[in-house]
Amino acid sequence: MATNFTGGCLCGAVRYGCTAEAIFMGNCHCRDCQKASGGAYEPAIGIPAPALKITGNVKNYEVKGDSGKILSRGFCPQCGSRLFGKTSAVTELAMITAGSLDDPNQYRPQMDIYTSSAQPWDHMNPALPKFPKMPM
Ligand SMILES: [Zn+2]
Ligand SMILES: [Zn+2]
Repeated sequence: MATNFTGGCLCGAVRYGCTAEAIFMGNCHCRDCQKASGGAYEPAIGIPAPALKITGNVKNYEVKGDSGKILSRGFCPQCGSRLFGKTSAVTELAMITAGSLDDPNQYRPQMDIYTSSAQPWDHMNPALPKFPKMPM
């Protein structure tokens, strides 16, 4: 069953929508996600890239990940809200941040990843599977 995800940035200049089943939902505790989000982790929802419709101007910051592939982080250039992720490793995949959803209650994390760099003040749900790096 497809889910209707809608959301946007803090100032409202960027909006998005997606009608598709989420591929995964998970909290990434890598240092890059900590730096980019300013928090303990990034709550990410993986969706099929073609299903993501964006309106407004998005700026991307690209960085080489562990695997040598490019990870692109999309944000609103006006308010700086972090909204999107794309990796050159899996081009058919797009990621949206759970906190940017209009209804963040749609977020149902299934796992914690990159827990090897999780912070001691980051209290994780013990019921979720933990992966020190990527889950494969
Ligand atoms: Zn904005
Ligand atoms: Zn990460």
